[in-house]
Amino acid sequence: MEALSEHTIAFSGLKDGSHAYDFMLGADFFRASGVEEYLDGKVSVKVTLEKSMYLLVTLIHVDGYIEMLCDHCNAPMHQPVEGDQRQIFKLTEENETDEDELVSIDPNAQEINLTHYIFECISLHLPIRHVHLPEDCDPEVADALEIIQVNHEPDPRWAVLNELKHKSA
Ligand SMILES: [Zn+2]
Repeated sequence: MEALSEHTIAFSGLKDGSHAYDFMLGADFFRASGVEEYLDGKVSVKVTLEKSMYLLVTLIHVDGYIEMLCDHCNAPMHQPVEGDQRQIFKLTEENETDEDELVSIDPNAQEINLTHYIFECISLHLPIRHVHLPEDCDPEVADALEIIQVNHEPDPRWAVLNELKHKSA
């Protein structure tokens, strides 16, 4: 996901120690994510940044919901999402980036942008399957789906016919 300027933290002027940031993600964020499934949402993001001479340790906490289509009835629903992600930025000339949580940044950098990591934190904590609570599913669609499922049961008479066809061939 492209960086959004509101998630840029200018750390060069900060004192060593702990700093806290709050962001609120809404429709603009989910539109900018380019993920078609994310129709809308409201997610509060709390970031704690621990600054020391060569390290910026950020802890990202997300809490809220994303509006998506229900996998069962296809009507919009609020999928809750909550979780944490730690991301460590190291100011170094070496490339010490690992697959986990460490990213190397230029020792002369003045700021970091967290959009990508916030997006990642949300994606990682979303369940793969998102459905309404059973009683909240669109009742008409749910009924229709049940009928379709019933109709998809293979008709035993076809099996008999198929057998006959094979025998006569
Ligand atoms: Zn549903």
